[in-house]
Amino acid sequence: MTDLFDSFRRRIEYIRVSVTDRCNLRCAYCTAESVPHLPHDEILSYEEIRRVVRAAVELGLRHVRLTGGEPLVRPNLSTLVRLLSQIEGVDDITLTTNAILLGKYAAELKAAGLRRVNISLDTFKADKFQQITGGYKLKDVLGGIETARQVGLNPVKINMVVLKGTNDDELLDFAQMSVSQGWHVRFIEHMPLVTAGVENGQLVAVGDMMAIIQRSLGVLEPCWPASGSGPAKYYQLPGAKGTIGFIGPVTDCFCSECNRFRLTADGRLRPCLLEDSEVDLKGPLRMGASTQELKKLMHQAAALKKRQHCLSEEVVPSKRQMWQIGG
Ligand code: SAM
Repeated sequence: MTDLFDSFRRRIEYIRVSVTDRCNLRCAYCTAESVPHLPHDEILSYEEIRRVVRAAVELGLRHVRLTGGEPLVRPNLSTLVRLLSQIEGVDDITLTTNAILLGKYAAELKAAGLRRVNISLDTFKADKFQQITGGYKLKDVLGGIETARQVGLNPVKINMVVLKGTNDDELLDFAQMSVSQGWHVRFIEHMPLVTAGVENGQLVAVGDMMAIIQRSLGVLEPCWPASGSGPAKYYQLPGAKGTIGFIGPVTDCFCSECNRFRLTADGRLRPCLLEDSEVDLKGPLRMGASTQELKKLMHQAAALKKRQHCLSEEVVPSKRQMWQIGG
């Protein structure tokens, strides 16, 4: 087996697989209005996803994260988890979800081989949650978090996209959960993709988030992550069992450590979240491509990986929004 490297000697070992472009929430900062969803036959089947992941594993990829849209709105997701967990060489299958449906599916996903979940949650206030998400219930998410912990999808990580004037007043409440509840909380800078609901100037930089937390809750000591292979930098507050991670795509470019591919729901392999280039796998798959041919296309995608994104020059991906890529 030959491992897969890009032109800058970064090893690719992680693939984020978007299983649908549909979502049950309408978060203003993620979803612009009026973009039609993909027809069902444009979406990769579970068998097609299994073939892509199997080829990727033969190139040394080990970690698969399922995302969307909202992955749990796709029927029978645990069937896909089971298929992937049977591929020899897959070490870690994880899920990124808004957790609205997690209470219902956590146990069967765990039984099928899911290891861990990252849960997106931007506020603890029920009315604000409805406002951000377009009318959904916070209690469903909190129930989903609890069920995930109970069935052993640990460590559960909570991801909060921090927006000035929207939820930055809750930074300390979220940080405090790492002490009082042992939560693993991650704060994410908002990325300026094509979104309708966010105004310029709502970015909160990681440096500012850290300063706010340290002023009120004590020194953030660097620490190792509880798990994972992502771009977050981790810290702990005094006395905390949980951790606090910071992800700063805008002010703290993490591209030098990028180790991943993204597969869109319609079967495009994206070497970079923040750049438009893609390699089509669905067409070749449906024309009968062999595993060897899929691996060749993966090498092509790796060669397209740029040294780093161009957010600082205000170049953003224009062809897809976040919910069409999977975060
Ligand atoms: N529906 C799932 C969820 O809510 O986790 C998976 C897909 S969602 C696109 C993945 C993550 O991207 C979420 O944590 C969401 O908050 C984050 N996200 C969406 N738009 C973003 C943006 N413009 N900047 C930073 N994060 C964003």
